[in-house]
Amino acid sequence: MNNCSHICKDDNDKARPNCAVVGVYNNPEASIMAYYALHALQHRGQEASGITTIYFDEEKNKKKYAYIKGEGLVLDVFSENGALTEVLKGDVAIGHNRYSTTGASKIANIQPFNMIYKNGILSLAHNGNLTNTKTLKKMLQDEGAIFQTTTDSEVFLHLIARSKKETKLEQVREALQIARGAYSLCIVTDEGMIAARDPHGVRPLSIGRKKMENGYSYMVASESTAFDIVNYEYVRSLKHNEMILIDDDTVKTGKIKSFKIDEVTPIAKHCIFEYVYFSRPDSKIFGHNVDKVRRKLGKNLAEESPVMPIKDEKITVISVPDSSNTATLGYARINDNVTPTVFEIGLIRSHYVGRTFISPGQNNRELKVKTKFNTVQGVIENRNIVVIDDSIVRGTTSKALIKLIKGAKPMKLQMRVSSPPVKYPCYYGMDFPSREELIANKFDTEEELADYIGVDSLKYLSLEKMLDSMPKDEGVSYCDACFTGNYPIPIEKVNFEILED
Ligand code: SF4
Repeated sequence: MNNCSHICKDDNDKARPNCAVVGVYNNPEASIMAYYALHALQHRGQEASGITTIYFDEEKNKKKYAYIKGEGLVLDVFSENGALTEVLKGDVAIGHNRYSTTGASKIANIQPFNMIYKNGILSLAHNGNLTNTKTLKKMLQDEGAIFQTTTDSEVFLHLIARSKKETKLEQVREALQIARGAYSLCIVTDEGMIAARDPHGVRPLSIGRKKMENGYSYMVASESTAFDIVNYEYVRSLKHNEMILIDDDTVKTGKIKSFKIDEVTPIAKHCIFEYVYFSRPDSKIFGHNVDKVRRKLGKNLAEESPVMPIKDEKITVISVPDSSNTATLGYARINDNVTPTVFEIGLIRSHYVGRTFISPGQNNRELKVKTKFNTVQGVIENRNIVVIDDSIVRGTTSKALIKLIKGAKPMKLQMRVSSPPVKYPCYYGMDFPSREELIANKFDTEEELADYIGVDSLKYLSLEKMLDSMPKDEGVSYCDACFTGNYPIPIEKVNFEILED
Protein backbone atom coordinates (compact mmCIF):
# COMPACT_ATOMS: atom_id res chain seq x y z
CA MET A 1 0.00 0.00 0.00
CA ASN A 2 1.22 3.47 -0.83
CA ASN A 3 1.02 5.71 2.21
CA CYS A 4 2.35 8.81 0.50
CA SER A 5 -1.07 10.18 -0.25
CA HIS A 6 -4.51 9.54 0.97
CA ILE A 7 -7.52 9.99 -1.23
CA CYS A 8 -10.26 11.37 0.92
CA LYS A 9 -13.81 11.15 -0.37
CA ASP A 10 -16.08 13.82 1.06
CA ASP A 11 -14.52 13.49 4.43
CA ASN A 12 -16.86 15.70 6.35
CA ASP A 13 -19.81 14.63 8.43
CA LYS A 14 -22.24 14.72 5.59
CA ALA A 15 -24.10 12.21 3.52
CA ARG A 16 -22.85 12.45 -0.04
CA PRO A 17 -25.18 14.19 -2.43
CA ASN A 18 -26.69 12.37 -5.35
CA CYS A 19 -26.85 13.73 -8.87
CA ALA A 20 -28.03 16.65 -10.95
CA VAL A 21 -30.02 16.47 -14.16
CA VAL A 22 -30.60 19.18 -16.72
CA GLY A 23 -32.44 19.27 -20.06
CA VAL A 24 -32.67 22.11 -22.60
CA TYR A 25 -35.10 22.29 -25.51
CA ASN A 26 -35.13 24.79 -28.36
CA ASN A 27 -32.08 26.92 -27.76
CA PRO A 28 -29.36 27.30 -30.42
CA GLU A 29 -26.90 27.45 -27.51
CA ALA A 30 -28.38 24.41 -25.77
CA SER A 31 -25.01 22.93 -24.76
CA ILE A 32 -23.86 26.24 -23.28
CA MET A 33 -27.11 26.53 -21.31
CA ALA A 34 -26.66 22.97 -20.03
CA TYR A 35 -23.03 23.68 -19.13
CA TYR A 36 -23.87 26.70 -16.97
CA ALA A 37 -26.85 24.91 -15.43
CA LEU A 38 -24.67 21.94 -14.51
CA HIS A 39 -22.10 24.30 -13.05
CA ALA A 40 -24.81 25.82 -10.84
CA LEU A 41 -25.70 22.28 -9.72
CA GLN A 42 -22.13 21.16 -9.11
CA HIS A 43 -22.87 20.56 -5.41
CA ARG A 44 -25.12 17.62 -6.37
CA GLY A 45 -22.34 15.61 -7.99
CA GLN A 46 -18.65 16.27 -8.33
CA GLU A 47 -17.24 13.02 -9.62
CA ALA A 48 -18.17 13.27 -13.27
CA SER A 49 -20.20 15.22 -15.76
CA GLY A 50 -21.65 14.75 -19.23
CA ILE A 51 -23.67 16.57 -21.89
CA THR A 52 -25.38 15.09 -24.97
CA THR A 53 -26.85 17.23 -27.75
CA ILE A 54 -29.10 16.36 -30.66
CA TYR A 55 -28.63 18.10 -34.00
CA PHE A 56 -29.44 17.84 -37.71
CA ASP A 57 -26.69 16.57 -40.01
CA GLU A 58 -25.38 18.90 -42.72
CA GLU A 59 -28.03 17.87 -45.26
CA LYS A 60 -30.66 18.61 -42.65
CA ASN A 61 -32.41 15.32 -43.23
CA LYS A 62 -31.21 13.21 -40.33
CA LYS A 63 -30.80 13.84 -36.63
CA LYS A 64 -27.61 12.80 -34.85
CA TYR A 65 -26.25 13.08 -31.37
CA ALA A 66 -22.94 14.19 -29.91
CA TYR A 67 -21.69 13.87 -26.37
CA ILE A 68 -18.80 14.69 -24.07
CA LYS A 69 -18.35 12.96 -20.72
CA GLY A 70 -15.53 12.92 -18.25
CA GLU A 71 -14.50 12.59 -14.65
CA GLY A 72 -14.15 15.77 -12.63
CA LEU A 73 -15.90 19.09 -12.26
CA VAL A 74 -18.04 20.67 -14.98
CA LEU A 75 -15.50 23.42 -15.64
CA ASP A 76 -12.81 20.81 -16.31
CA VAL A 77 -14.79 18.26 -18.32
CA PHE A 78 -15.87 20.77 -21.00
CA SER A 79 -12.80 22.99 -20.88
CA GLU A 80 -11.37 22.16 -24.30
CA ASN A 81 -11.76 24.82 -26.98
CA GLY A 82 -14.75 24.13 -29.18
CA ALA A 83 -16.18 21.45 -26.89
CA LEU A 84 -19.45 23.29 -26.42
CA THR A 85 -19.71 25.16 -29.70
CA GLU A 86 -18.27 22.74 -32.25
CA VAL A 87 -18.72 19.27 -30.77
CA LEU A 88 -21.94 19.73 -28.84
CA LYS A 89 -24.01 21.26 -31.64
CA GLY A 90 -27.78 21.42 -31.70
CA ASP A 91 -30.71 23.10 -30.01
CA VAL A 92 -31.49 20.22 -27.64
CA ALA A 93 -29.20 19.20 -24.78
CA ILE A 94 -29.25 16.98 -21.74
CA GLY A 95 -26.70 17.01 -18.93
CA HIS A 96 -25.81 15.17 -15.75
CA ASN A 97 -23.48 15.61 -12.78
CA ARG A 98 -22.64 12.35 -11.14
CA TYR A 99 -21.98 11.28 -7.65
CA SER A 100 -22.03 7.50 -7.65
CA THR A 101 -24.65 6.01 -5.35
CA THR A 102 -24.83 2.76 -7.28
CA GLY A 103 -22.26 1.38 -9.67
CA ALA A 104 -18.55 2.05 -9.43
CA SER A 105 -17.01 5.29 -10.58
CA LYS A 106 -15.98 4.58 -14.11
CA ILE A 107 -16.36 6.22 -17.47
CA ALA A 108 -19.08 3.86 -18.71
CA ASN A 109 -21.24 4.88 -15.75
CA ILE A 110 -21.14 8.60 -16.57
CA GLN A 111 -24.48 9.90 -17.77
CA PRO A 112 -26.29 10.91 -19.94
CA PHE A 113 -26.73 7.42 -21.39
CA ASN A 114 -27.28 7.49 -25.15
CA MET A 115 -28.84 4.90 -27.43
CA ILE A 116 -30.09 4.50 -30.95
CA TYR A 117 -32.95 2.02 -30.98
CA LYS A 118 -35.81 1.05 -33.27
CA ASN A 119 -37.52 4.44 -32.71
CA GLY A 120 -34.46 6.66 -33.09
CA ILE A 121 -32.19 8.54 -30.73
CA LEU A 122 -32.74 8.61 -26.97
CA SER A 123 -30.55 10.08 -24.24
CA LEU A 124 -31.31 9.79 -20.52
CA ALA A 125 -30.18 11.39 -17.25
CA HIS A 126 -31.37 10.08 -13.88
CA ASN A 127 -31.26 11.33 -10.29
CA GLY A 128 -32.31 8.86 -7.60
CA ASN A 129 -32.07 5.12 -6.97
CA LEU A 130 -34.36 2.36 -8.14
CA THR A 131 -35.44 -0.12 -5.48
CA ASN A 132 -36.29 -3.08 -7.72
CA THR A 133 -33.11 -3.13 -9.80
CA LYS A 134 -32.19 -6.71 -9.04
CA THR A 135 -35.52 -8.08 -10.20
CA LEU A 136 -35.53 -5.91 -13.31
CA LYS A 137 -31.94 -6.71 -14.26
CA LYS A 138 -32.59 -10.41 -13.93
CA MET A 139 -35.73 -10.18 -16.02
CA LEU A 140 -33.95 -8.16 -18.72
CA GLN A 141 -30.86 -10.36 -18.75
CA ASP A 142 -33.04 -13.47 -19.05
CA GLU A 143 -34.52 -11.83 -22.15
CA GLY A 144 -31.05 -11.29 -23.59
CA ALA A 145 -30.18 -7.76 -22.48
CA ILE A 146 -26.48 -7.00 -22.13
CA PHE A 147 -25.69 -4.28 -19.61
CA GLN A 148 -22.92 -1.81 -20.46
CA THR A 149 -22.77 -0.16 -17.04
CA THR A 150 -23.15 -1.12 -13.39
CA THR A 151 -25.76 1.54 -12.65
CA ASP A 152 -29.46 1.16 -11.97
CA SER A 153 -30.19 3.97 -14.44
CA GLU A 154 -29.36 1.78 -17.43
CA VAL A 155 -32.41 -0.35 -16.59
CA PHE A 156 -34.60 2.45 -17.98
CA LEU A 157 -32.97 2.21 -21.41
CA HIS A 158 -33.63 -1.53 -21.67
CA LEU A 159 -37.20 -1.17 -20.48
CA ILE A 160 -37.85 1.56 -23.05
CA ALA A 161 -36.12 -0.30 -25.91
CA ARG A 162 -38.11 -3.53 -25.37
CA SER A 163 -41.48 -1.78 -25.10
CA LYS A 164 -44.05 -2.69 -27.76
CA LYS A 165 -45.88 0.61 -27.36
CA GLU A 166 -46.00 2.79 -30.45
CA THR A 167 -44.89 6.23 -29.31
CA LYS A 168 -41.77 7.13 -27.39
CA LEU A 169 -43.92 8.77 -24.78
CA GLU A 170 -45.86 5.54 -24.18
CA GLN A 171 -42.65 3.50 -24.20
CA VAL A 172 -41.17 5.72 -21.52
CA ARG A 173 -44.39 5.67 -19.50
CA GLU A 174 -44.48 1.88 -19.58
CA ALA A 175 -40.84 1.73 -18.40
CA LEU A 176 -41.58 4.11 -15.54
CA GLN A 177 -44.56 2.02 -14.46
CA ILE A 178 -42.29 -1.01 -14.14
CA ALA A 179 -39.39 0.73 -12.38
CA ARG A 180 -39.86 1.35 -8.64
CA GLY A 181 -37.98 3.68 -6.35
CA ALA A 182 -36.77 7.25 -6.65
CA TYR A 183 -36.25 8.90 -10.00
CA SER A 184 -36.22 12.38 -11.37
CA LEU A 185 -35.53 11.85 -15.03
CA CYS A 186 -34.86 13.82 -18.15
CA ILE A 187 -34.95 12.14 -21.55
CA VAL A 188 -34.33 13.81 -24.89
CA THR A 189 -35.17 12.20 -28.20
CA ASP A 190 -35.23 13.36 -31.82
CA GLU A 191 -38.89 14.33 -31.22
CA GLY A 192 -38.94 16.11 -27.89
CA MET A 193 -37.94 16.26 -24.26
CA ILE A 194 -39.60 14.10 -21.61
CA ALA A 195 -39.18 14.70 -17.88
CA ALA A 196 -40.64 12.75 -14.97
CA ARG A 197 -40.73 12.41 -11.20
CA ASP A 198 -41.49 9.05 -9.64
CA PRO A 199 -44.97 8.48 -8.13
CA HIS A 200 -43.71 9.48 -4.65
CA GLY A 201 -41.64 12.37 -6.03
CA VAL A 202 -38.67 11.68 -3.77
CA ARG A 203 -36.19 13.83 -5.72
CA PRO A 204 -36.86 17.35 -7.03
CA LEU A 205 -37.19 18.47 -10.64
CA SER A 206 -38.40 21.84 -11.90
CA ILE A 207 -39.36 23.48 -15.18
CA GLY A 208 -38.06 26.81 -16.46
CA ARG A 209 -38.50 28.69 -19.71
CA LYS A 210 -37.24 31.63 -21.69
CA LYS A 211 -38.79 33.62 -24.55
CA MET A 212 -37.01 33.09 -27.86
CA GLU A 213 -37.60 34.51 -31.35
CA ASN A 214 -39.38 31.33 -32.43
CA GLY A 215 -41.38 30.75 -29.23
CA TYR A 216 -40.19 29.38 -25.91
CA SER A 217 -37.08 27.53 -24.91
CA TYR A 218 -37.61 25.12 -22.00
CA MET A 219 -35.28 23.82 -19.36
CA VAL A 220 -35.77 21.16 -16.69
CA ALA A 221 -33.34 20.98 -13.79
CA SER A 222 -32.94 19.40 -10.36
CA GLU A 223 -32.99 22.81 -8.68
CA SER A 224 -34.16 26.23 -9.84
CA THR A 225 -30.77 27.83 -9.30
CA ALA A 226 -29.88 26.32 -12.67
CA PHE A 227 -32.46 28.62 -14.32
CA ASP A 228 -31.11 31.75 -12.63
CA ILE A 229 -27.65 31.44 -14.10
CA VAL A 230 -28.96 31.35 -17.69
CA ASN A 231 -31.92 33.72 -17.20
CA TYR A 232 -34.69 31.18 -17.58
CA GLU A 233 -37.79 31.99 -15.53
CA TYR A 234 -39.01 29.42 -13.03
CA VAL A 235 -42.34 27.95 -14.17
CA ARG A 236 -43.12 25.24 -11.62
CA SER A 237 -42.00 22.00 -10.02
CA LEU A 238 -42.97 18.79 -11.77
CA LYS A 239 -45.58 17.08 -9.64
CA HIS A 240 -44.99 13.67 -8.16
CA ASN A 241 -46.22 10.91 -10.49
CA GLU A 242 -46.03 13.41 -13.37
CA MET A 243 -44.44 12.98 -16.76
CA ILE A 244 -44.25 15.92 -19.14
CA LEU A 245 -43.55 16.22 -22.84
CA ILE A 246 -42.00 19.33 -24.32
CA ASP A 247 -41.95 19.34 -28.12
CA ASP A 248 -42.21 21.76 -31.03
CA ASP A 249 -45.90 22.40 -30.21
CA THR A 250 -44.92 23.43 -26.68
CA VAL A 251 -42.33 25.79 -28.11
CA LYS A 252 -45.05 27.56 -30.13
CA THR A 253 -47.97 27.44 -27.68
CA GLY A 254 -46.22 27.47 -24.30
CA LYS A 255 -48.42 24.52 -23.26
CA ILE A 256 -46.61 21.71 -21.48
CA LYS A 257 -48.21 18.31 -22.05
CA SER A 258 -48.64 16.54 -18.73
CA PHE A 259 -49.43 12.87 -18.00
CA LYS A 260 -49.69 10.62 -14.98
CA ILE A 261 -47.22 7.77 -14.64
CA ASP A 262 -49.30 5.44 -12.44
CA GLU A 263 -53.09 5.63 -12.68
CA VAL A 264 -53.40 6.29 -8.95
CA THR A 265 -51.22 9.04 -7.48
CA PRO A 266 -49.96 8.18 -3.99
CA ILE A 267 -49.14 10.71 -1.27
CA ALA A 268 -45.85 12.38 -2.21
CA LYS A 269 -42.79 11.59 -0.12
CA HIS A 270 -40.39 14.44 -0.79
CA CYS A 271 -36.89 13.88 0.54
CA ILE A 272 -36.67 15.97 3.69
CA PHE A 273 -32.87 15.92 3.54
CA GLU A 274 -33.00 18.01 0.36
CA TYR A 275 -34.25 20.85 2.57
CA VAL A 276 -31.97 20.03 5.50
CA TYR A 277 -28.70 19.87 3.61
CA PHE A 278 -28.49 18.81 -0.04
CA SER A 279 -30.08 21.59 -2.07
CA ARG A 280 -28.73 25.08 -2.44
CA PRO A 281 -30.41 27.71 -0.25
CA ASP A 282 -30.94 29.94 -3.29
CA SER A 283 -32.94 27.17 -5.01
CA LYS A 284 -36.58 26.35 -5.20
CA ILE A 285 -37.29 22.66 -4.88
CA PHE A 286 -40.68 20.94 -4.66
CA GLY A 287 -42.11 24.42 -5.33
CA HIS A 288 -40.60 26.11 -2.25
CA ASN A 289 -37.58 28.21 -1.36
CA VAL A 290 -34.94 26.15 0.40
CA ASP A 291 -33.68 29.25 2.23
CA LYS A 292 -37.03 29.79 3.93
CA VAL A 293 -37.34 26.19 5.10
CA ARG A 294 -33.77 26.04 6.34
CA ARG A 295 -34.25 29.28 8.28
CA LYS A 296 -37.34 27.77 9.90
CA LEU A 297 -35.31 24.71 10.90
CA GLY A 298 -32.88 27.05 12.66
CA LYS A 299 -35.67 29.01 14.33
CA ASN A 300 -37.35 25.86 15.59
CA LEU A 301 -34.02 24.62 16.87
CA ALA A 302 -33.57 27.83 18.88
CA GLU A 303 -37.09 27.54 20.29
CA GLU A 304 -36.44 23.98 21.39
CA SER A 305 -32.85 24.33 22.53
CA PRO A 306 -31.89 27.94 23.23
CA VAL A 307 -28.54 28.81 24.74
CA MET A 308 -28.35 30.97 27.85
CA PRO A 309 -25.56 33.39 28.74
CA ILE A 310 -22.80 32.93 31.31
CA LYS A 311 -22.99 36.06 33.46
CA ASP A 312 -23.75 38.94 31.07
CA GLU A 313 -21.80 37.58 28.09
CA LYS A 314 -23.81 37.66 24.90
CA ILE A 315 -24.07 34.51 22.80
CA THR A 316 -22.05 34.24 19.58
CA VAL A 317 -23.57 31.86 17.05
CA ILE A 318 -21.34 30.52 14.27
CA SER A 319 -22.15 28.09 11.47
CA VAL A 320 -20.31 25.22 9.85
CA PRO A 321 -20.18 26.75 6.39
CA ASP A 322 -21.75 26.69 3.87
CA SER A 323 -24.76 24.44 4.22
CA SER A 324 -25.50 25.48 7.83
CA ASN A 325 -25.37 29.24 7.23
CA THR A 326 -29.09 29.74 6.70
CA ALA A 327 -30.24 27.63 9.66
CA THR A 328 -27.71 29.51 11.80
CA LEU A 329 -29.26 32.85 10.83
CA GLY A 330 -32.66 31.52 11.89
CA TYR A 331 -31.24 30.20 15.15
CA ALA A 332 -29.48 33.47 16.02
CA ARG A 333 -32.61 35.50 15.36
CA ILE A 334 -34.81 33.48 17.70
CA ASN A 335 -32.15 33.01 20.37
CA ASP A 336 -31.78 36.79 20.41
CA ASN A 337 -35.37 36.94 21.71
CA VAL A 338 -34.24 34.94 24.74
CA THR A 339 -30.85 36.50 25.36
CA PRO A 340 -28.56 38.90 23.39
CA THR A 341 -27.17 36.88 20.50
CA VAL A 342 -25.00 37.76 17.52
CA PHE A 343 -24.37 35.82 14.33
CA GLU A 344 -20.69 35.85 13.38
CA ILE A 345 -18.48 34.22 10.79
CA GLY A 346 -16.25 32.13 13.03
CA LEU A 347 -15.25 29.46 10.55
CA ILE A 348 -13.87 30.12 7.09
CA ARG A 349 -14.18 27.40 4.51
CA SER A 350 -11.74 26.86 1.68
CA HIS A 351 -13.58 26.68 -1.62
CA TYR A 352 -10.67 25.06 -3.37
CA VAL A 353 -11.20 21.71 -1.68
CA GLY A 354 -13.63 19.53 -3.56
CA ARG A 355 -15.49 16.54 -2.26
CA THR A 356 -12.69 14.30 -3.44
CA PHE A 357 -9.27 15.60 -2.59
CA ILE A 358 -5.81 14.34 -1.90
CA SER A 359 -4.10 15.14 1.36
CA PRO A 360 -0.45 14.35 0.78
CA GLY A 361 1.79 13.04 3.49
CA GLN A 362 -0.54 11.42 5.90
CA ASN A 363 -3.99 10.21 6.65
CA ASN A 364 -4.47 12.79 9.39
CA ARG A 365 -8.03 13.84 10.15
CA GLU A 366 -6.99 17.02 11.89
CA LEU A 367 -4.98 18.14 8.89
CA LYS A 368 -7.85 17.28 6.56
CA VAL A 369 -10.26 19.40 8.58
CA LYS A 370 -7.74 22.24 8.52
CA THR A 371 -7.52 21.89 4.74
CA LYS A 372 -11.20 22.75 4.65
CA PHE A 373 -11.78 25.09 7.59
CA ASN A 374 -9.99 27.69 9.63
CA THR A 375 -11.18 29.68 12.63
CA VAL A 376 -11.45 33.43 13.07
CA GLN A 377 -9.75 33.77 16.43
CA GLY A 378 -11.10 37.24 17.17
CA VAL A 379 -14.68 36.00 16.84
CA ILE A 380 -14.22 32.95 19.04
CA GLU A 381 -11.71 33.79 21.77
CA ASN A 382 -13.28 34.25 25.21
CA ARG A 383 -16.79 34.17 23.77
CA ASN A 384 -19.77 32.00 24.61
CA ILE A 385 -19.94 30.12 21.28
CA VAL A 386 -22.74 28.05 19.79
CA VAL A 387 -21.82 26.21 16.61
CA ILE A 388 -24.68 25.14 14.35
CA ASP A 389 -24.42 22.21 11.96
CA ASP A 390 -27.25 21.02 9.72
CA SER A 391 -26.61 17.32 10.33
CA ILE A 392 -24.12 14.89 11.80
CA VAL A 393 -23.70 11.67 9.90
CA ARG A 394 -20.43 9.92 10.69
CA GLY A 395 -19.35 12.32 13.42
CA THR A 396 -15.65 11.81 12.97
CA THR A 397 -14.98 15.19 11.41
CA SER A 398 -17.21 16.98 13.93
CA LYS A 399 -14.76 15.93 16.61
CA ALA A 400 -11.79 17.33 14.69
CA LEU A 401 -13.73 20.48 13.85
CA ILE A 402 -14.60 21.05 17.51
CA LYS A 403 -10.93 20.58 18.41
CA LEU A 404 -10.08 23.22 15.82
CA ILE A 405 -12.62 25.68 17.26
CA LYS A 406 -11.37 25.00 20.78
CA GLY A 407 -7.90 25.97 19.59
CA ALA A 408 -9.30 29.51 19.22
CA LYS A 409 -10.07 29.46 23.00
CA PRO A 410 -13.83 30.00 23.37
CA MET A 411 -15.08 30.55 26.92
CA LYS A 412 -17.76 27.92 26.35
CA LEU A 413 -18.58 25.84 23.27
CA GLN A 414 -21.98 24.31 22.61
CA MET A 415 -23.36 22.61 19.54
CA ARG A 416 -26.83 22.58 18.01
CA VAL A 417 -27.89 20.45 15.02
CA SER A 418 -30.79 21.57 12.81
CA SER A 419 -32.04 18.01 12.15
CA PRO A 420 -32.61 14.89 14.28
CA PRO A 421 -30.02 12.11 14.68
CA VAL A 422 -29.34 10.26 11.40
CA LYS A 423 -29.73 6.57 12.22
CA TYR A 424 -30.57 4.79 8.96
CA PRO A 425 -29.10 4.68 5.46
CA CYS A 426 -30.85 6.04 2.38
CA TYR A 427 -31.88 3.78 -0.49
CA TYR A 428 -33.33 6.53 -2.65
CA GLY A 429 -30.26 8.19 -4.07
CA MET A 430 -28.11 9.50 -1.22
CA ASP A 431 -24.91 7.87 -0.14
CA PHE A 432 -24.87 7.30 3.61
CA PRO A 433 -22.43 5.18 5.58
CA SER A 434 -23.65 1.89 7.06
CA ARG A 435 -25.82 1.94 10.19
CA GLU A 436 -22.83 0.90 12.30
CA GLU A 437 -20.85 3.93 11.08
CA LEU A 438 -23.57 6.46 11.85
CA ILE A 439 -22.54 8.28 15.02
CA ALA A 440 -26.08 8.49 16.37
CA ASN A 441 -26.14 4.69 16.64
CA LYS A 442 -23.01 4.64 18.79
CA PHE A 443 -24.27 6.76 21.68
CA ASP A 444 -27.46 6.51 23.68
CA THR A 445 -27.78 10.13 24.75
CA GLU A 446 -26.93 13.61 23.53
CA GLU A 447 -24.76 14.03 26.64
CA GLU A 448 -22.60 11.03 25.70
CA LEU A 449 -22.22 12.33 22.16
CA ALA A 450 -21.37 15.81 23.47
CA ASP A 451 -18.62 14.25 25.61
CA TYR A 452 -17.24 12.32 22.65
CA ILE A 453 -17.22 15.30 20.32
CA GLY A 454 -15.86 17.58 23.01
CA VAL A 455 -18.58 20.23 23.44
CA ASP A 456 -20.21 21.51 26.63
CA SER A 457 -23.65 20.58 25.33
CA LEU A 458 -25.19 19.17 22.16
CA LYS A 459 -28.83 19.23 21.10
CA TYR A 460 -30.53 17.95 17.99
CA LEU A 461 -33.75 19.31 16.50
CA SER A 462 -36.63 16.96 17.27
CA LEU A 463 -38.37 15.01 14.50
CA GLU A 464 -41.60 16.78 15.32
CA LYS A 465 -40.04 20.23 14.91
CA MET A 466 -38.22 19.22 11.72
CA LEU A 467 -41.55 18.17 10.21
CA ASP A 468 -43.13 21.36 11.51
CA SER A 469 -40.51 23.34 9.54
CA MET A 470 -41.55 21.80 6.22
CA PRO A 471 -43.93 23.40 3.70
CA LYS A 472 -47.47 22.03 3.90
CA ASP A 473 -48.93 21.11 0.51
CA GLU A 474 -52.01 19.04 -0.15
CA GLY A 475 -51.18 15.43 -1.01
CA VAL A 476 -47.57 15.88 0.08
CA SER A 477 -45.67 14.46 3.01
CA TYR A 478 -41.99 13.73 3.48
CA CYS A 479 -39.57 10.85 3.42
CA ASP A 480 -37.74 10.99 6.75
CA ALA A 481 -36.45 7.40 6.62
CA CYS A 482 -32.83 8.26 7.45
CA PHE A 483 -34.11 9.64 10.76
CA THR A 484 -36.93 7.21 11.49
CA GLY A 485 -36.32 4.03 9.48
CA ASN A 486 -39.81 4.39 7.96
CA TYR A 487 -39.04 3.73 4.30
CA PRO A 488 -41.98 4.85 2.16
CA ILE A 489 -41.02 2.70 -0.86
CA PRO A 490 -40.22 -0.99 -0.25
CA ILE A 491 -36.54 -1.84 -0.62
CA GLU A 492 -35.27 -4.91 -2.42
CA LYS A 493 -32.82 -5.95 0.27
CA VAL A 494 -29.99 -7.14 -1.96
CA ASN A 495 -30.60 -4.49 -4.55
CA PHE A 496 -27.20 -2.94 -4.29
CA GLU A 497 -25.01 -6.00 -4.05
CA ILE A 498 -25.29 -7.04 -7.68
CA LEU A 499 -24.33 -3.60 -8.87
CA GLU A 500 -20.78 -3.78 -7.58
CA ASP A 501 -18.02 -4.39 -10.10
FE1 SF4 B 1 -34.01 11.72 1.80
FE2 SF4 B 1 -33.29 10.45 4.02
FE3 SF4 B 1 -35.47 9.69 2.64
FE4 SF4 B 1 -33.03 9.30 1.64
S1 SF4 B 1 -33.87 8.34 3.48
S2 SF4 B 1 -34.82 10.07 0.54
S3 SF4 B 1 -31.93 11.12 2.35
S4 SF4 B 1 -35.13 11.63 3.72
